[in-house]
Amino acid sequence: MMEAKYVYGFNEGNKDMKSLLGGKGANLAEMTKIGLPVPPGFTISTSACNDYYDNSELIRDEIIKEIENYLKSLEENLNKKLGCSKNPLLLSVRSGAVFSMPGMMDTILNLGLNDSSVLALANATQNERFAYDSYRRFIQMFSDVAMGIPKYKFENVLDDAKESKGYKIDTDLNSEDLKEIVTKYKAIYKKEIKQDFPQEPKDQLMLAIEAVFKSWNNPRAAVYRKLNDIPHNLGTAVNIQSMVFGNMGESSGTGVAFTRNPSTGENKLFGEFLINAQGEDVVAGIRTPQDISSLKNVMPKAYDEFVKITSILENHYKDMQDIEFTIEREQLYILQTRNGKRTTTAAINIAVDLVNDNIIDEKEAIMRIEPKQLDQLLHPSFESKALKNATVIAKGLPASPGAGSGKVYFNAQDVVEAKGRGEEAILVRLETSPEDIEGMVCAQGILTARGGMTSHAAVVARGMGKCCVAGCSQIKVDEYNKEIRSDDFVIKEGEYISLDGSSGCVYIGSVKKTDVALTGSFEKLMNWVDKYKDIIVRSNADNPRDAAMAIKFGAQGIGLCRTEHMFFDEDRIPAVREMILSNTLEQRLVALEKLLPMQREDFVAMFKVMDGKPVNIRLLDPPLHEFLPHDDESINHLAKVMGLQVSEIKRRIIDLDEFNPMLGHRGCRLAITFPEIYEMQAKAIIQGAIEASKEGIKVTPEIMIPLVGEVKELKVIKDMIKETVDNIIAAEGVNIPYTIGTMIEIPRACLSADEIAQEADFFSFGTNDLTQMTFGYSRDDAGKFLGEYVNKELLEKDPFEVLDQKGVGKLVKMGVQLGRSSKPNIKLGICGEHGGEPSSIEFFYNLGLNYVSCSPFRVPIARLAAAQAFIKNPR
Ligand code: ADP
Ligand code: MG
Ligand code: MG
Repeated sequence: MMEAKYVYGFNEGNKDMKSLLGGKGANLAEMTKIGLPVPPGFTISTSACNDYYDNSELIRDEIIKEIENYLKSLEENLNKKLGCSKNPLLLSVRSGAVFSMPGMMDTILNLGLNDSSVLALANATQNERFAYDSYRRFIQMFSDVAMGIPKYKFENVLDDAKESKGYKIDTDLNSEDLKEIVTKYKAIYKKEIKQDFPQEPKDQLMLAIEAVFKSWNNPRAAVYRKLNDIPHNLGTAVNIQSMVFGNMGESSGTGVAFTRNPSTGENKLFGEFLINAQGEDVVAGIRTPQDISSLKNVMPKAYDEFVKITSILENHYKDMQDIEFTIEREQLYILQTRNGKRTTTAAINIAVDLVNDNIIDEKEAIMRIEPKQLDQLLHPSFESKALKNATVIAKGLPASPGAGSGKVYFNAQDVVEAKGRGEEAILVRLETSPEDIEGMVCAQGILTARGGMTSHAAVVARGMGKCCVAGCSQIKVDEYNKEIRSDDFVIKEGEYISLDGSSGCVYIGSVKKTDVALTGSFEKLMNWVDKYKDIIVRSNADNPRDAAMAIKFGAQGIGLCRTEHMFFDEDRIPAVREMILSNTLEQRLVALEKLLPMQREDFVAMFKVMDGKPVNIRLLDPPLHEFLPHDDESINHLAKVMGLQVSEIKRRIIDLDEFNPMLGHRGCRLAITFPEIYEMQAKAIIQGAIEASKEGIKVTPEIMIPLVGEVKELKVIKDMIKETVDNIIAAEGVNIPYTIGTMIEIPRACLSADEIAQEADFFSFGTNDLTQMTFGYSRDDAGKFLGEYVNKELLEKDPFEVLDQKGVGKLVKMGVQLGRSSKPNIKLGICGEHGGEPSSIEFFYNLGLNYVSCSPFRVPIARLAAAQAFIKNPR
């Protein structure tokens, strides 16, 4: 049997061994392999860490032996010895997980120093100041990282020393000062740990290694893993590396650099360095670092070599690198490389540049962009500098991304008027309702105190691509007195605020924005995306404006046009109310006659914008009472128009009230009781189609019947619509290809999809309602508890955002299979919020759906996610 191996020299590994060596270790090995100047060392693998936990937190002798052997060859190799009083070897101990995890263990540098080796180091280098500087750093890092003594206790001593001598920076401290500091540091250690600072280097080393293993399970690391979906059982590796010294004087230094600009992607070295410094001094901000380009003047030889190595690394890894280096007396060493983090703009520019330079191919470029990241590009955002100086006054739900600033107004009409005056306005409401639509259109952003991620404000704002912060319960919105209040402030009508719909933050004042710029690279990438994606991406759009936006973002059709949003229009609502409150058929038909031409015009406009692309129109869905007036003025007006008593109107309004509107008289149920409503809509659609086609536009309307749970509901309504439509077509003597299908959004519809398919030309899975009804969570109320469910890990994700594949997804799958079993060529799509969510899109692609449909601003995200799903699983 082969003996288990737990430790690997840097010369034994490579970049593909991340799960065993951790990211840092694998890359140190790879750089060693390709001959870059990496200080030698070895990696204690993640399997050693897991072994440690498997043995109730004990490093077994077998592993200790292996470590000792590797240490011994390192010593021989460098002709130095750990703890030696002549020529001491110093080590760095660096944690390195498979995925980089900030907030885990920090690094310990200069391990191996003690009261005698510090003298040897001073002697060997003829630099006493350097030796004691290294020792005080080591004591502080070891105490903090391995023993948990708070850093500030050491920093106070350092600050006091500088202050008493009138020094400004650390490098002003001379060797006598540093000796004193070392003495004080050791005293702190003794006081805290009740033992002397460990003088035996092997003890130092084993304590440090164990501390790294333990850090894998510290609370910060556990939280980070949870947030980033990193499994808890991976373990961390430990890198033991011989030290090189950037703190040896003016010909030494340390720094970090990106091979390209991480915010723009520009192909130019981007980084900083510090002379006479070690490790984290650069990021710690102790002294202001210099720009990497000026290294050319300070140390031209080291600079040239560094530039050469950066391009070797980038070509080798085929990606932008984030590199750490140290220069010891003019000699360059590379201490780390990894793929650099970057903004979306940079990510796209870099990926496209790398394809142009033949370093990666189109598919690779597509896979490198995180679909959700595109959001950053499609909406305006605040300038990061301006944001830093801005004051957050409250935080709500990040309901619709983007940035907006303007003067606050507390009702839609005021916003409309403000816009008319040329002002930028923010609509602030307790919660929005359909009457606010025009104000929402005119506003720069929307802020509500109530409502969740699927509240009216959130859904409508996302559809418009308008920024929205919803459910901001930290503030009081006083619509009557027209002010926002909290414990600390009052903001009155006309004062400025700014909203960040991506973070949910509300800022006081007007924060400066950056423009949306869909650059050349973006367009190029999206062209590649369309070449690979193998599922159609449509958009949800209720009006020509949103439809035009959807086309701009690459939508291939409309997957959901919600006609109730057309009903909500301000000049239509009286007729809609009249229709609802009629209690005779004759009266209702009068009202419907008023609505018919308006709806027809809507559809004509829609067909024109879509210019031949398919348009799926859903017949009226929401509960009737949503349309009803509540204020006396509107009620009085309605009474006059309808020739009824005010009391009679009020009585009818009460009659329409429902205990549970979501499960009430809505969707196709409306058409069972009042068929004339859908009849009017079907007429409007087909007359609109005829009118548009007379103007030379190819029209293919898809008429969708919502909320079907039993095939007979569908059959009755379908037959009625078909008769209406066919009569019109026959009378006009034209040919309009149309289809009639249904939304699949009630669990029973999935369960009986084979029957339903026989009456439907298409299915569109309405996953919002399907999620609501499968879980039994009201979309309007789930905000109150879903957060807790996710926090407590009862649910992995909010199922209204990310499709619940295990439950709701199973119903979708059943609907697909049953539907196709009785009608093999039935067209299948999805139009819930999940149509724009990448992991859900992958699921729908793998189920073989024909299309997904999402809000206009998510169309590019959906296209990219669809291309990635294909590349992962081509068919
Ligand atoms: P992090 O993961 O936080 O970047 P590192 O292990 O890379 O931690 O180390 C932190 C700092 O210590 C870096 O600035 C690095 O350059 C420096 N460092 C690490 N190992 C050595 C070494 N062998 N010699 C000199 N400096 C080192
Ligand atoms: Mg590092
Ligand atoms: Mg629905």
